[in-house]
Amino acid sequence: MRIIKPFDPWQGKWCSCPAKYTLNPYTGCAHHCLYCYTTSFIPRPFEVREKPHILKKIEKDLEEIDYSRYLSLSNSSDPYPPEEEKRKLTREILELCREKGLPVLILTKSTLVTRDIDILKTMRAAVSITITTFNSSTARFLEEGAPSPQKRAQALIKLHEAGIPTILRIDPLIPGINDEPEEWKEILSLLSSHLNQVVVSTFKPRPDSWKRMTATFPSLQKTENWYTRKRGNSLYLEDHRRIKLLEEARAVVHSFSLPFSSCREGLATWNDLPCDGSGFIID
Ligand code: SF4
Repeated sequence: MRIIKPFDPWQGKWCSCPAKYTLNPYTGCAHHCLYCYTTSFIPRPFEVREKPHILKKIEKDLEEIDYSRYLSLSNSSDPYPPEEEKRKLTREILELCREKGLPVLILTKSTLVTRDIDILKTMRAAVSITITTFNSSTARFLEEGAPSPQKRAQALIKLHEAGIPTILRIDPLIPGINDEPEEWKEILSLLSSHLNQVVVSTFKPRPDSWKRMTATFPSLQKTENWYTRKRGNSLYLEDHRRIKLLEEARAVVHSFSLPFSSCREGLATWNDLPCDGSGFIID
């Protein structure tokens, strides 16, 4: 395989994703999320560039892949950076996948995904959009380059109205920033009838993301000693805080009668559906 790769980033037992492929049409991401973990392994992480000869490589990979799996688009960048509006690379990739019958799970923070509703509704596809907070000023600092959370919410509604399965990711849950159940309820009050699933995940800082977060939100310094568990290259909240946070999130999600899942939390038994939202595109 040249560019479509099996998804197995950490080979960790805490990842409960079904067997799938991953593809990043672009390297680097324009959203500038303070909490982004890709900055620890991607050079110039906030500079978007296209991968050379990508379409030719994808066409060849599509001759070789296992069609019982699906494609996750994308996991280390966003498939809809501003460049995509003119370049239409992700759109071309969707057309190729539709032609070959490869199911696609889109993960994005961009509203540009709604441009491709015409393709998405004619193939096996689901769209997962991340909204970490409805607080506009927090979001402006946290995800400086991304569309506002309210615009993302409107995109989810539009996709769902077009018949495309929609997944909301409230990710990451960051103590001291967006850990209040009232805030999740506000998001779900607007969106619950336009969602098929909610996925949550707690903040798992790495040294560089922690530095950015605390430079912008100095009050987080007081939570530093809550991140005591090292798993892979990330720190996890100490278990009693992490489990409590996830239990609260699960209760809120269930109170809106929506399926709940968590991502990389080692709680696969809590998941009502496959953890990433792929239950709507695979048998
Ligand atoms: S959208 Fe994802 S890849 Fe892009 S900056 Fe934010 S966390 Fe990183």
